[in-house]
Amino acid sequence: MNFDFTDEQKLFADSVRRFAQAHLAKDALKRAHDPRFPFDVAKLMSEQGLMGITIPEPDGGQGGTLMDAVIAIEQVAAVCPRSADVVQFGNFGPIRTFAEYGTAYQKKKWLAECLAGRMVMSLGMSEPEAGSAVTDLRTTAKPDGSSYIISGSKVFSTFSPDAAVFLVYVRYGPGVGGIGSVLVERSAPGFTIGPPQEFMSGEQWCELHFENCRIPAENVLLGPGGFKKQMASFNVERLGNTARALAFGRFCYERAREHASTRQQFGRPLAEFQGLQWKFADMAIALEGAQLLLYRAAANADKGLPSAYETAVAKAACNQVGFNAAHESVQIMGAAGYSRSSLVEYCMRRCRGWMIAGGSVEMLKNRIAEHVFDRRFDQRAPKPKSSEAAE
Ligand SMILES: Cc1cc2nc3c(=O)[nH]c(=O)nc-3n(C[C@H](O)[C@H](O)[C@H](O)COP(=O)(O)OP(=O)(O)OC[C@H]3O[C@@H](n4cnc5c(N)ncnc54)[C@H](O)[C@@H]3O)c2cc1C
Repeated sequence: MNFDFTDEQKLFADSVRRFAQAHLAKDALKRAHDPRFPFDVAKLMSEQGLMGITIPEPDGGQGGTLMDAVIAIEQVAAVCPRSADVVQFGNFGPIRTFAEYGTAYQKKKWLAECLAGRMVMSLGMSEPEAGSAVTDLRTTAKPDGSSYIISGSKVFSTFSPDAAVFLVYVRYGPGVGGIGSVLVERSAPGFTIGPPQEFMSGEQWCELHFENCRIPAENVLLGPGGFKKQMASFNVERLGNTARALAFGRFCYERAREHASTRQQFGRPLAEFQGLQWKFADMAIALEGAQLLLYRAAANADKGLPSAYETAVAKAACNQVGFNAAHESVQIMGAAGYSRSSLVEYCMRRCRGWMIAGGSVEMLKNRIAEHVFDRRFDQRAPKPKSSEAAE
């Protein structure tokens, strides 16, 4: 067992860090407070080979590993947290499911544009009545000649104000086996996008409404029975959330460490107060432990797809550790950390969201408990027995 990066990984990490320092450091604060997708950064990253790191070369990607993509997210986040969202989009988000299962026609139409940083894709999974219980989704896709008719609504989709194409989870028929996904263009007839609404983080999302929205049959990504495949690649998206949560926590820890080394109170640096030293010690223990769980999930990814269990353990740990580190860093930096002129409060707000997004910490713990007891725990209310139902 080796806990160090390989020489290639070290070289790659160095090159991404140098790129980020040269191109992304300058406007990091401004970018954090701009809710729109930073297409300028995406184009730069595309030129640098940071989009499609894990996507095969014939599809226009870099043919690298999931670990490479994690390294990229960490190095970018350490310099410009907001730009790490672009690494997420280009490597971990719906683009990953799309690249995995898309047809040649679909990839030709959308993948190259996304990898060039000219187009962004959004994931329409959550619905007003289907959040954690995602398999309760009601948005339907019905065949009609050479088209499909989509009806339903989606909420909370990241990048929805800027996305040109949406990967939408739909129901072709009843049950989990009836779920699959389609690609819907922003201009599709019957598709309306509500005004932007804002998360605590300042990120924007729009309600998506499909009213007899007609799409060509070529836009079907996964037909009935596609749900398991969607979830397998969704573990990659989860790992991107995991990596950003940890990287944002570490970003705050580093800012707090610099602050505590230089800021003087009572005639001495803050770092000399034991009450603060122990906060740093606790953060260091937690950050390093969570980092190993993240790297294990990424390094063990089979054919680029991490295991559900290792992803759940890593995400639950990194979400909590990242948020705690950001939260403690705000405290250590006092009003300077709480101020919007510091990126620390921004990172704290972002980390809070990842405890909910992409599988909440509670849902991940449910998954982990199933592994612990080697059995499935159905979260649904038991169905009434036929005698009770008749009463
Ligand atoms: C920053 C952010 C970005 C997002 N981006 C997207 C996106 O791009 N696309 C998209 O489709 N959706 C997106 N979402 C939505 C996200 O997927 C949902 O918020 C998530 O699935 C939880 O659903 P919910 O918010 O409806 O909460 P609910 O499911 O209503 O849950 C509420 C609370 O109850 C807990 N809970 C629910 N069921 C159980 C259970 N069985 N056991 C224990 N606790 C339980 C949850 O953990 C949570 O704390 C995003 C959300 C956030 C915050």
